[in-house]
Amino acid sequence: MNTPLAERPKIVLFGLRNAGKSSLMNALMALDVSIVSPTPGTTTDPVTRPFELGALGPVAITDTAGLDDIGDLGALRVEKSLERLRLSDIPVLVTRADTPLTDIERLAVGRLQGKPALMVVLTHCDSGYNQEKYDWARAIGLVAVESPVRKGIEEMRRLLEKKGAKADREDSPLEGLVSEGDFLILVTPIDLAAPKGRLILPQVETIRDTLDKDCACLVVKERELFSFYQVLNKRPRLVVCDSQAFAKVAADIPADQPLTSFSILFGRKKGDLAVYVRGVKALATMPADAKVLVLESCAHHQQADDIGTVKIPRLFRQLVQPRAEFHHARQLPPEEELAKFSMVINCAGCMVSRNAVLDRLEVLDRWNIPVLNYGLFLAWVNGLLPRALEPFPEEYALYLQGTTEEGIS
Ligand code: SF4
Repeated sequence: MNTPLAERPKIVLFGLRNAGKSSLMNALMALDVSIVSPTPGTTTDPVTRPFELGALGPVAITDTAGLDDIGDLGALRVEKSLERLRLSDIPVLVTRADTPLTDIERLAVGRLQGKPALMVVLTHCDSGYNQEKYDWARAIGLVAVESPVRKGIEEMRRLLEKKGAKADREDSPLEGLVSEGDFLILVTPIDLAAPKGRLILPQVETIRDTLDKDCACLVVKERELFSFYQVLNKRPRLVVCDSQAFAKVAADIPADQPLTSFSILFGRKKGDLAVYVRGVKALATMPADAKVLVLESCAHHQQADDIGTVKIPRLFRQLVQPRAEFHHARQLPPEEELAKFSMVINCAGCMVSRNAVLDRLEVLDRWNIPVLNYGLFLAWVNGLLPRALEPFPEEYALYLQGTTEEGIS
């Protein structure tokens, strides 16, 4: 139950009002999470709950408002439902078995092209089947349940597990970078910015991934790194450090020691490293009056020398364009406002799902706005590119294209 919601595959139940979404969610979780009522429109805002689903492990399941909700508020609720749907890993259309498929349902499903885990639950199947809908749903993957939901719920669990295996899941931080038996060093500065008495999520997840991959790691502060490195009798497969300690860490280990940062690991896990590499290259062509949007994802506690509001604007003005204008947001602004930005610098996205970050990147790509993330920007600032990209051969090669000894051409 301690798995963060952002790390759980997201099952989103969607459909018309009174299709049986809330009953289904309750039956799956075997408790009354959603209010069930025969009155259409009982679920107004999306309700998300964590639970454990067999082979899939920890998942998050969301019950959404009906796609046919009415009035001004209804339209807003539908927007929220569609937003959740876009970010889902396993979208589940919940629809009555005995009625024809509506245009609204068809439209919503049409927006989910590219989600291989889409499935259909036909409810009220004890009232009979609409043959055309049944055939259509069978091609996608269906399960039929009775109303009130009793028979069919075990089949639904099994189909969710099967579909979940196809969902586009986030890689773990060290995916593809280490093998069983490898040894790693993780460098985690404990400075004023470090939370009291604990480590931050990317560090904790990387330690856990080390153990999951049957590797071992030494966790050390940057000050102690040099002395501990000297006495090692096994060369680390990889050294991972905090972006802000990059320069000191790089100076304290051999030049051929593979090195990267937690931010770069998470830039890959929570987004698309190649997009950020192209973003670094765009720094060379920033106009004098560049407008830069720093995009974070949650209301984290801000320090005096906060990275997004203080450090990055300061470094950008020192090294890229002195007159650059900075804007800050936690959500992508409306599309019509995006055109004014020359660049977006994204946070590490540690508290949100990969889908949520990819969704942002897709919109920014449509508007042709270069994006980079904190990790790549700080690695560039510290002169550590391309070294910090060496563990990722494709992105490393992409960075080298058009790059000279003196910098980015
Ligand atoms: S990196 Fe982004 S998601 Fe993670 S704590 Fe900071 S603002 Fe929140």
